Amino acid sequence: MARINDNFQKLPGNYLFSEIARRVAAYRTENPDRELILLGIGDVTRPLPAAVVAAMHRAADEMGQVSTFRGYGPEQGYDFLRETIAQHDFAARGIKIRADEIFISDGAKSDCGNIVDIFAQDNRVAVCDPVYPVYVDTNVMSGRAGEYDPATGKWSNLCYMPCTRENHFIPEVLQKPVDLVYLCFPNNPTGAVATREQLAAWVNYANACGAIILFDAAYEAYITDPAIPHSIYEIPGAETCAIEFRSFSKTAGFTGARCAYTMIPEALVRDGAHLRDLWNRRQCTKFNGVPYVTQMGAAAVYSPEGAQQVRENLDYYRKNAVCIRNGLLAAGLAAFGGENSPYIWVRTPDGMPSWDFFDLLLKQANVVTTPGAGFGPSGEGYIRLTAFGDAEKTAQAVERIRSIL
Ligand code: PLP
Repeated sequence: MARINDNFQKLPGNYLFSEIARRVAAYRTENPDRELILLGIGDVTRPLPAAVVAAMHRAADEMGQVSTFRGYGPEQGYDFLRETIAQHDFAARGIKIRADEIFISDGAKSDCGNIVDIFAQDNRVAVCDPVYPVYVDTNVMSGRAGEYDPATGKWSNLCYMPCTRENHFIPEVLQKPVDLVYLCFPNNPTGAVATREQLAAWVNYANACGAIILFDAAYEAYITDPAIPHSIYEIPGAETCAIEFRSFSKTAGFTGARCAYTMIPEALVRDGAHLRDLWNRRQCTKFNGVPYVTQMGAAAVYSPEGAQQVRENLDYYRKNAVCIRNGLLAAGLAAFGGENSPYIWVRTPDGMPSWDFFDLLLKQANVVTTPGAGFGPSGEGYIRLTAFGDAEKTAQAVERIRSIL
């Protein structure tokens, strides 16, 4: 009889988003006349930039002609996109990442999740708390996380690094060695960004103990402060200790179109093996590349018109973030993030539990948020708001929250 990977049995259900959906549905049934505003969603609402759509149309036409049709593409991505990324995202910022160190994929979620394939089963893993749940769940699935303790909300073999108001939501460098460290800046959910010095401390740590930093830069496009690094490779020494994940999802509206990229420098070696080669082997075996049409659309993000249209969309969301942050600060709440990030992390009033504040905002302001407790134990006492909504509705939601506080 076939046996299953029973690590999957250990995963608690996707409690956070299903519980939000359940509470929202129950409220809607009881109050069908109330209009709810969703500030909890992590998905974008602005459409794809026109330059991207035009490039996708052209690519689709090519696919319909014998002379320009393309079948399977390179598993690593087309050179035209890898080279464009190397030039615009890295060389233009003085960072040495070559096209052959860039792997195009269908999402940063897939890459963050799949990367565990190339690491040993007994690697010790550190994650931020609160955390983007994919880092934890993929380690659970692959048998690295140990046992779940519902009382603490933690897995026995994971090292949780509390990100709290006291440390400005940036984890202190560990005093003990671990093997894999997940860092995500700008952070989901706290909206925090790490300074050059803070990232340098992590790079020094990783190089000293041989750890690998898995650096999720999915929100780097939201950074406006010129002093904040966009890439871990802006830090000297990162090429020997870090893998970086990026995505077109929140930058250019590709959450439905699906395109992302992962950087693995050639200099990244452990146990005598180049991690780039292991990842290449993994991708060639389990992945057949991103559609040509999608990659042509992604390349158009870097065209002069595409870049301008992307900037306009980012500015739209940035204004929402400022509106939320300033509005809630004016209402007397402690609000963090939202400056170099689309996420605003808000302390609940008077130490109210996350889910109680979620219910209060749902029922009295008709605004849907995300309870911080769902992102890990240190998320208790916070809620997450996102800047990805409609501008007018976002302003209205902030007004509603202010009026009930
Ligand atoms: N990384 C972080 C921190 C995210 O918040 C998300 C999406 O919400 C992703 C990765 C996934 O991005 P993608 O759409 O490229 O899979």
